[in-house]
Amino acid sequence: MVLRLLGFLAGFLVLAALPVRAQKYPDKVITIVVPFTAGGPTDTVGRLIAQPMTTALKQQVIIENIGGAGGTIAASRVARSAPDGYTVLLHHIGMSTAPTLYRKLPYNPLTDFEPIGLINEVPMTLIARRDFPPKDLKELISYVKANKDKVTYANAGIGAASHLCGMLFMTSIQTDLTTVPYKGTADVIKDLLGGQVDFTCDQTTNTTSQIKADKVKVYGVTTKRRLASLPKIPTVDEAGLKGFEVSVWHALYAPKGTPKPIIDTLTKALQAALKDKVVKERFADLGTEPVEEKRATPEVLRAHLKAEIDKWAPIIKKAGTYAD
Ligand code: ASP
Repeated sequence: MVLRLLGFLAGFLVLAALPVRAQKYPDKVITIVVPFTAGGPTDTVGRLIAQPMTTALKQQVIIENIGGAGGTIAASRVARSAPDGYTVLLHHIGMSTAPTLYRKLPYNPLTDFEPIGLINEVPMTLIARRDFPPKDLKELISYVKANKDKVTYANAGIGAASHLCGMLFMTSIQTDLTTVPYKGTADVIKDLLGGQVDFTCDQTTNTTSQIKADKVKVYGVTTKRRLASLPKIPTVDEAGLKGFEVSVWHALYAPKGTPKPIIDTLTKALQAALKDKVVKERFADLGTEPVEEKRATPEVLRAHLKAEIDKWAPIIKKAGTYAD
């Protein structure tokens, strides 16, 4: 009887402690996991929002980079983390392409995470090492077709945005190229500058300064319209590949089962970060802008993720690219 009473009391205490813990949230450091290496475009977005999120949450928000397998290693790690609001994932469009690209993905983006909110959309740029012979997109297309056995396309692995853009490029010109996978495009840019690889497609958050400093050759931006930050660069569409379009959206997720009050706190901190002056200015310099507050919500992100999975599935299936 006494034992039973003690058991009941213990159970009651655990239950009573849960909301208290949620109410106190956050009372320790929060880690945003970035699924690519430090210094790249996804990392840049993460580090820019971590600062104002730290202010909003009154707790340090730090970045942990877990690169590899096009972002899927980090995503599966976060899916298996404690749903306590102290580990969140910042991922991009790869969250919506991996389910079709991977035959055995160890997580389901729609059911293994709690969406927190969208962050921004970032254009991509098709760029090459500075001394790569083709001068414009038309020349690039004929050059890679004529030299397909020796040209190398670098990306951040299957599931990365750079992979998706390269896949679209290769299917549009009906030419398969040798791809070189990295754990993030920070490393791709280093090797592109060193001349170890020929070309890539990467977010403007990583390429704008290299383009402006004339350290790389640029063939086009992947959005329908030219960018205010790079007005002289034609779109890939206008330069010769009609209909070519890809834009990289970023978002925050928590592991499934994270309590709603914690998700709400994180969403509010994200929304505060997206209004931050420095974030807005840096985003603008890098060719992007924060989403409107009403889009930085779990509901909009859930619907967007589902729509993007449905959008990319038939395109990837047509390209016939798969990973195990
Ligand atoms: N831009 C990379 C990609 O291709 C990832 C990164 O390094 O942030 O997805």
